[in-house]
Amino acid sequence: MLSVILPAYNETGLISRAAERIGDILRGAGIQYELIFVDDGSTDGTWEEIAKVTESNGSVRGVGFSRNFGKEAAIFAGLEAADGDCCAVMDCDLQHPPEKLPEMYALWQQGWEVVNGVKIDRGREGGLHSFSAKTFYKMMSKAVKIDMSRSSDFKLLDRKVVDTLLGLSERKTFFRALVSWVGFRSIDVEFNVAERELGKSHWATLSLFRYAISNISSYSSAPMQIVTALGVLTFLFSLVLGVQTLINWASGNALDGFTTVILVLLLIGSILMISLGIIGYYISQIFMEVKGRPRYLVSRACQKDRSDPQ
Ligand code: UDP
Ligand code: MG
Repeated sequence: MLSVILPAYNETGLISRAAERIGDILRGAGIQYELIFVDDGSTDGTWEEIAKVTESNGSVRGVGFSRNFGKEAAIFAGLEAADGDCCAVMDCDLQHPPEKLPEMYALWQQGWEVVNGVKIDRGREGGLHSFSAKTFYKMMSKAVKIDMSRSSDFKLLDRKVVDTLLGLSERKTFFRALVSWVGFRSIDVEFNVAERELGKSHWATLSLFRYAISNISSYSSAPMQIVTALGVLTFLFSLVLGVQTLINWASGNALDGFTTVILVLLLIGSILMISLGIIGYYISQIFMEVKGRPRYLVSRACQKDRSDPQ
């Protein structure tokens, strides 16, 4: 069975439309399915709408949060609730085309464990918004070392991958990056980002910026190492300046005592920065350990059947 997880935040008008459209497509393709709407603490009638759809349609289930916890939390709650042998995650504003689900499902049947929806274009977005999204993805790609610019949360995951994700102990997650971190046999499926059917995107540029900072900091300790690099740079610079100051002093061009002040300042500055960097390094090690991620993940194993007579 395929579980489709749909995080919903203030999407009253879209719930029944999404349930109908996705249901039609999956029934048409002969795929057994369940739809799980996760109401992320909506303040409009989204929950009532979900409850209404569950009454009329037996393959729909709803999970409701006590307040808004964010899409990441909603995705994980959906994965936790899902019973399917594979789970698809998609936006309930239908920007992720449900027509792709049968294709993704077929790939899963062929043995692929992660089917990634990859955007062909980013849909129609405003100038500043699209610029900040691009910058965010560039920074993120560097941090996670994969191309994030076209990646999306539209994914189909095998049960094995879902259980692995749920087994990770970290609380602050970044779904896309985590899916790429866990690995497994993955394949990409391209899709065109559709127009939002109703309402507007919940992402203000400022919240996108906050999201970027929080994701990069929860995923990478690289920013902490910048201090070390700065320290080394300052040290090199201070060497050059130090030599020049000493030459001035030797040739008698320097004010009395000034040479010592410059040298001491330079030395202390660079030593301080390098020490901060070293402390940062240890903190980053603690940060990684605290996450408690497994050392490795096994995807499959094989062995000669011992009971097999030779
Ligand atoms: N969403 C959510 N919680 C939030 C914000 C958004 O569950 O706090 C859901 C929303 O209902 C939608 C999906 O996440 O199904 C994508 O949101 P949106 O369309 O606003 O983002 P965009 O498509 O612009 O990236
Ligand atoms: Mg959207």
